Amino acid sequence: MTPYTKEYAIRQDEKDPLKHFKSRFIKSDSDLIYLDGNSLGMLPCETPHHMDRVVKEEWGKGLIRSWNTGWYERSAQLAAKLAPLIGAQPEEVMIADSTSVNLFKLAYAALQHQQGRKGIVSDQLNFPSDIYVLQGLVELLGNKHQLRLASSADEMTVSMEELEKQLSDDSALLTLSHVVFKSAFMYDMKAVTRLAHKKGAMVLWDLSHAVGSVPVYLNDSNADLAIGCTYKYLNGGPGAPAFLYVRKDLQQKLQSPVQGWFGQSNPFEFNLDYQPAVGINRFLAGTPPLLSLSALEPALEIMTEAGINNLRNKSVLQTRYLISLVEEYLSPLGFSLASPGDETRRGSHISIRHAEAYRICKALIDPQTGDRVIIPDFREPDNIRLGIAPLYNSFLDIYEAVMQLKLLVEEELYSRFPLTRETVT
Ligand SMILES: *Cc1c(COP(=O)(O)O)cnc(C)c1O
Repeated sequence: MTPYTKEYAIRQDEKDPLKHFKSRFIKSDSDLIYLDGNSLGMLPCETPHHMDRVVKEEWGKGLIRSWNTGWYERSAQLAAKLAPLIGAQPEEVMIADSTSVNLFKLAYAALQHQQGRKGIVSDQLNFPSDIYVLQGLVELLGNKHQLRLASSADEMTVSMEELEKQLSDDSALLTLSHVVFKSAFMYDMKAVTRLAHKKGAMVLWDLSHAVGSVPVYLNDSNADLAIGCTYKYLNGGPGAPAFLYVRKDLQQKLQSPVQGWFGQSNPFEFNLDYQPAVGINRFLAGTPPLLSLSALEPALEIMTEAGINNLRNKSVLQTRYLISLVEEYLSPLGFSLASPGDETRRGSHISIRHAEAYRICKALIDPQTGDRVIIPDFREPDNIRLGIAPLYNSFLDIYEAVMQLKLLVEEELYSRFPLTRETVT
């Protein structure tokens, strides 16, 4: 059977061992095709019930007593659920703050630990927030450090040679996104970590676009530090707290720059001298956002039930399928692939480029023609990201999205939309 027909997509969905997970998510508009799970994951059906109980029972009835009946341990319990997804031990992971704040805390700790070394290396494909945090750190530490960004020859990937060129015996820290937000390029974590360690640099991985979409092996790669968010493929909800990872043997050697009471060795002694907690807790700062933290619980449950290796297998089949449709139907219309062709070096979203990408995106989201609504996202200057979340995206979703893209461009339906950008794209 040729893979370019609707029947083929339907057949793939029938064969999909994970197909029943789609019904575990709320979809108020049955016609909607959601391809933005890499920016904000969908809402699990169980989450509103769970939150209703947390709010009414734990907060409403339990009030402050709930701190002793589950709240205090909740960050650590959820971190333990998350740990297997990133190849870490439960006592190496903590859920707290936002990704940017966790980057600040861990990068600062690493630079203090690497006294004397002045190089910080990242790359031009990294998420801007990460770069801002690093620039701020350089300033905060008196402009003694030098931030170097490895460049990308193709705007998609960064070579090992280029990384090696940026690293030196003066490098303190290498920090990269494991899966790059625009192109979905995925670094070889083990090889890159080994390279940095050879130069004496510590490695901090941002797992925001990796966690929940690809299996991550932090321990096996001997990674030092990691951070990531939980509202993308993990479906924790908007602004869900982020996570951080510090390898066991490094925990006692590093210290958080935000010395808050939750990171104190015994917060309820109310001692006036700060003593960092033994273990991962020392990287906590203040009271965790219990409500958003709790929303993560059903989401992590589903992820664990599906199994990250099963999800990865499906995601590889789906990204491969999407690329074949792009080549067949969209390349002749001015689209080009902006993600690596090699699936071992690729995460779970696919970027395509088109000169009219912005308006095409608008026309997908707000068709005004009775066509179905499709939600991808747009990234400057000309990228359309099609996020594939194997928990709830079907092969038919992918087929229909490509067909809609084809129609929009063939009939120039996007031309009715203005070129001015909205605040959030
Ligand atoms: C989404 C994302 C973030 C988000 O950071 P927050 O501080 O949690 O908003 C950070 N880094 C990367 C690579 C991301 O993809």
